[in-house]
This record gives sequence, C-alpha cells and structure tokens, in this order.
Amino acid sequence: MSLRFDVVRDAFKKHPIEVEPQKERPSAYFGKNVFNKQKMQQYLSAPVYAQMIDIMENGAVMDRSLADKVAEGMKKWAMEMGATHYTHWFHPLTDTTAEKHDAFIEFDGKGGVIEEFKGKLLAQQEPDASSFPSGGIRATFEARGYSAWDPTSPAFVMDDTLCIPTIFVSYTGEALDYKAPLLKAIHAVDKAAVDVCRYFDPKIKKVYSYLGWEQEYFLVDEGIFAARPDLLMTGRTLMGHGSAKDQQLEDHYFGAIPERVAAFMRELEVEALKLGIPVKTRHNEVAPNQFELAPMYEETNLACDHNMLVMTLMKKIARKHGFRCLLHEKPFAGVNGSGKHNNWSLGTDTGIGLMSPGKTQEGNLMFVTFIVNALAAVYRHNGLLKASIMSASNAHRLGANEAPPAIISSFLGSELTAVLDALENSSPDALLNLSGKSGKKMLDLPQIPELLIDNTDRNRTSPFAFTGNRFEFRAVGSEANCACAMIVINSIMAEQLLDFKKAVDARIAGGMDKNSALISEIQSLIKFCKPIRFDGNGYSDEWKAEAARRGLDCEPCPAKIFENYLTEDSLGMFTATGVMAEGEIRARNEIKLETYVKKIQIESRLLGDMAINHIVPAATKFQNSLVDNVYKMKDILGAEGLEISEKNIELIKKIACHVKAIEIGVSDMITVRRRANHLDGTAYDKALAYYEDVLPKMDAIRENIDALEEIVDDRLWPLPKYREILFLR
Ligand code: ADP
Ligand code: MG
Repeated sequence: MSLRFDVVRDAFKKHPIEVEPQKERPSAYFGKNVFNKQKMQQYLSAPVYAQMIDIMENGAVMDRSLADKVAEGMKKWAMEMGATHYTHWFHPLTDTTAEKHDAFIEFDGKGGVIEEFKGKLLAQQEPDASSFPSGGIRATFEARGYSAWDPTSPAFVMDDTLCIPTIFVSYTGEALDYKAPLLKAIHAVDKAAVDVCRYFDPKIKKVYSYLGWEQEYFLVDEGIFAARPDLLMTGRTLMGHGSAKDQQLEDHYFGAIPERVAAFMRELEVEALKLGIPVKTRHNEVAPNQFELAPMYEETNLACDHNMLVMTLMKKIARKHGFRCLLHEKPFAGVNGSGKHNNWSLGTDTGIGLMSPGKTQEGNLMFVTFIVNALAAVYRHNGLLKASIMSASNAHRLGANEAPPAIISSFLGSELTAVLDALENSSPDALLNLSGKSGKKMLDLPQIPELLIDNTDRNRTSPFAFTGNRFEFRAVGSEANCACAMIVINSIMAEQLLDFKKAVDARIAGGMDKNSALISEIQSLIKFCKPIRFDGNGYSDEWKAEAARRGLDCEPCPAKIFENYLTEDSLGMFTATGVMAEGEIRARNEIKLETYVKKIQIESRLLGDMAINHIVPAATKFQNSLVDNVYKMKDILGAEGLEISEKNIELIKKIACHVKAIEIGVSDMITVRRRANHLDGTAYDKALAYYEDVLPKMDAIRENIDALEEIVDDRLWPLPKYREILFLR
C-alpha cells in the first residue's frame, strides 16, 4: 500500500496524548514564568523597584547602574526557574520572532566559570544582523544592528532561557523590526489623544492603546502533514480537490471539540497562562479542523508580544500532540481561511474607555469625538490600512467570500449611525441649549444607548466594524505580526487627532466657545468621512462597484497595494507623528515586495516539482492500466470490445489532455518565472510580474491536477486528499 494509506490510517488510530492534569488553579500559576511586578518586588530592592516602575509607567530613562541591579535580580529569579541561558527576543521583519541564546556563564580566567549577567547584557546586544531583512538600510558588510531592552514588556522564561523583549535597530538608529515603530506609534497616539481628552477632562494624563486579538488556526495530523510536501514547505496546499463534505453543514463552528484537539488546547492554555497571557476563549471555527483562541485585551505592545508568543506555543505544543499547527491564511482552497481579528480601542488612565458611550452628555461628546476621528483616520488612509495587512498569503483570503474584501470600510450598526445622522443634521445651537437660571449653554446631544455592545448586530462582512466599545479590524492575516496593522492604526489616529485639535483650537481662537467648536468640527468630520461608512454586505459585487464610486481603494494587486506606504499622504503622516522616517518606510516596502516574490517563487517551484514528480506519474500509471484494459478487451472481443470500452477510451483522452496541459503549464510557468527573476527593474516590477504572470499559470496547473484527482484510481493518488487532511478525530 502507498505511504498515503499508511499515514491516514495512523492518523485515525491516534489517541489524545495524556497531559498531566494541572493540580493548581490558574490563579496559582498565572504569570509564573514572567518577571512581572510581583517578581520585581521580590527580587529587587525597594528603591530599584520604584525606579523600574517609573521607567515602565512613565518612560523614565534607565541608567547603567540601575540596569546592573535589575540584571542581578532577574538572573537570580531566572536561574531559580531553571534557566541557563538568556536571549534578546525581538520581532524582525519576517513574521516570526528571533533569538540568539547566550549562556549565563563567563570564564573566570582561572580555568573555572562563574554565572554572570551584567546590566549591559540586559540592556543591549549586537546580534549578527546581516541575515535579517533590512531593505537595504544596513548594508550586509556592515552587519551591525543592535537590540535594546523594552522594559514595558516583561522578561519571561521559556524552557531553559530567559527571554528579554527588545527592539531591533540599525547602528544608525533606523528600525529593523516591528516593535520600535509600534512603541513610537503608541506614544504618538497617547500624546495626541491626551491633548484632545483635555477638552473634556483636564485630569487625564495618559491614553493607552488596547488590543484584543483573536487567533484562528488549523490543526492537521503530523503524519499526513509530512506526506504533503506543499504543506511542509509553504504552509498551504497547492493542489487538492474539494472534499464532498466540508463546511456546508455548518456543523463545525462551536461544535464539540475533538478529544485530541481538546488535550492540545488544555496544554496550550496552561503554558500561555504561565507566560502571563490572559487566554480566555477557545472554540471551533467555521472550517473543519479550524479553531480559535482569544485572550482578554491588553495594552497594545504587550498584546502584540503575547500574540507572537502564542503562535510560537501553538506550533510547539501541536507537535507534542502529533499535530502541526497551520497559521497560513489560506491552507485549503474552498474552505474558510484563517485571520486575526484585532480589537482596538483607546482608554484613559482615569479608566474611561474612549470608544465606549459615556454616561453624561460631556462623556458622550467625548465618545463621539473619538469615534468620528477614528473613522476620519481610516477614511483618509484606507489604502494604507489595507497595505498594512497585505501579504502573499493573506491575498488568497481577502475577497474569497468568507473574509472581508480587499476594500476597507467601517460598519457602525444602526444605533451609532442614528446618532451620527442626528448630530450631522442638527445645528450646533440646537445641540447647545440655554439652560434655565445660569444662562450657561448645556449640551443636548441625541441619546446614545449605553449598552451598545449587546445591541450591535454583528456584521461579519465588514473589515473594520464598531462593536460597542472598540473597533474590530478583521482583515489582519492569521500569520502576521499584529504590530504591522497596529502601527498604522495608532499612527493614523494620532495624526487625525493632532489635526482635529488644531481645527478646534482655530475655531475657539475665532471666537467660538469650546463645545460649539467641538460640535461644529465633529459635524464637518461626519460629512467628510461618510464614504468609509458601509453597513451592507461587504461580500457583494454591488459593494465593490459602490466602493469604487466612493473613491475607496479597491486595488486587489498586492504590489500596487504596498505602494500605499509611499504616497505623499502616508509619508507625511508617518513623519508628522514621528513614527517612521521616509528611509525606514521605503526599506520596509522593499522587504514586503521581496518577501511577496520569494513566497510565490517557492510555491511555484514546488508546484512544478509536485506536478511533474507526483501527479503526472500517477496519472500516467492509471492511464496505462486503462490502455492495457482496452487492448485486452479488443483482443478478446474484437470490435465489440472496443465499443464496450468507449468510456475508458474517453477517460484515456481526458487524462492525456490534463497531463499535457500540466506539462505545458509547468514549462510556461518556468519561462515566466525566469523572466520575472531576471527583470532589471525594481522589486515592485518583479512583484507585479509574479502577480500578473506567475500566479495565473499556477492556478491553471492546479485546475488540471484537481481534475485528475477526481478521475485517477484512488489507490494510485500519491497525496493525502482534503477529506483525509481535514477531518480529525
Ligand atoms: P467575538 O468573537 O464576539 O468578536 P471574542 O470574545 O472572541 O469576541 O473576542 C473579543 C476580543 O475583543 C477579546 O480579546 C476581548 O478582550 C477584546 N475586547 C473587548 N473589549 C475591548 C476593548 N474595549 N478594547 C480592545 N479589545 C477589547
Ligand atoms: Mg471577533
């Protein structure tokens, strides 16, 4: 029997792996592996602890002697936790994290070793950075980039290693990672939002950006995975006929979780909780074998780190349970792909959720201010926001009738829409009534329902939906670093709030009172950002036409979408907010384009190999057996034998046609790929050639392979089929 039958039989015989039950309650082990405030208090002296808190909460500067003291306490704790090594843990521009482990030992020069970890090592490291993507910022020969500690995200122990979250920058200070610009974007939105908040409440000193992500993923049995070179090398199936049953019965979503998967989830959750990740929700997703995990929302920088950690844990723990975890956005054609939902909001240090309806008229005006500014920011930069989530893999998912289309719009729900419409159509004077005795003008806004969260009808087709106390950005890719989208969201919001403040101040300077100035500016923004509001079905063709009429970015080609980073508006916004300089943005774009090309190049090579080495031989073998049969029928029965074999002869021709189409297709694909690779032009030209020339050839090859899968003898088919990959027991 073939390898395929062996691995499938094995997969179906597997039982859940026994995980030692956790005797302790989650409250006893939550954050156990993290050097959090509680550990700091225990392992640092009182003055050092106080200084650390000042650094973490107020951005105070760390000096060398303090770093030494913190490092000493951190080392002591980590060694008690069994750590022997430490590493700077950072997010290079690759969608994974990077680490280089060093042992805690120093040679003492007398033939012995001592355990050592100085403040200098905690604060800064110089990993040989030459093999991380830099988009040309740091020429390879220079090879100098350094990682620097980000004390706002706590250190943690993973296996035997103390991991220190760091930013990663070039020697001349340009960001080579996601974290450095993210921290700047968070800072920018904090400053800009505080200034706007002060119209309402002068006590507000800090505004936090919050992120609650929801992570979708697939699990497949590792034996089956190993028998699929495409899953192994690219994370997705490059071929495979749809299974008779997939998600049409809608029986997987929220269904009972298979036992083997439940055991995996339990272990994943325990490990995540130990790392201080507040995981909360788990359930089956729409597609067979698809699942979701979501934590409680957290401050954005920490949430991004936690998402990266969870993805690492998922892959690691899946292997212990005989699974492979697929984070690719579209592992299987014809069934739903995976995304990440980034729930985003802003909140003050005084405990006010700026995207939650207020309890008073003033509170409601503040709420409307932030909602309308968020809409204006998203409208102004809808193309850029789309660029922030675009990738070779996410391009397969967007617009695939299951995920938001490649057009950014915002759903507000009927309540909020009614409020904005009423505001837009009232005169500021009507909204500011003279109240009885004092003669002071009072706000009289349309009633805003307090519990919008329960009322918002969820429009699942909207990429940027208001869901009661936050916006949910649903177009983010499952594999992506959340930070990429969060850099853009927070930066564009910062820019918009800066502009809003200027406009309101100008109205006040022109003689308006504060509330009139706010209301009239909000009214003009409501009018301005109308084209971004869309509550209808985002999957429909009518919407695509309507969005184009409204002037929203409807471009589907990733290379062209990436160009949105380089428009005057985007460059101006990133520089005005201090988040990135032009050189950094150009370098990043170069990396996005190069990565796009490389990913499709790998897929295309592999598709060619598999088509020629796996599929054509199997089809030919089956075809030969048919030919053999026809000959024998003719030998025995003569003309009658040929007549009876009519269907087989048709099948022989059909197979011959598909095989020929595959062979010609592969050779054409190689030709256009070569041409694209040897283009003299820019990375953009190459990416465009891959999109326009290589991808269509790949699709055509796949179509012929999938047609063969339907007719070739099942016993001869060399690859596990969708029905075997997608239904775990
Ligand atoms: P659903 O699947 O209904 O969208 P989930 O409960 O799965 O909702 O996930 C919602 C996510 O949104 C969670 O991570 C949750 O913590 C987060 N969230 C809730 N309120 C806020 C908020 N104000 N700001 C940011 N994220 C939030
Ligand atoms: Mg959600």
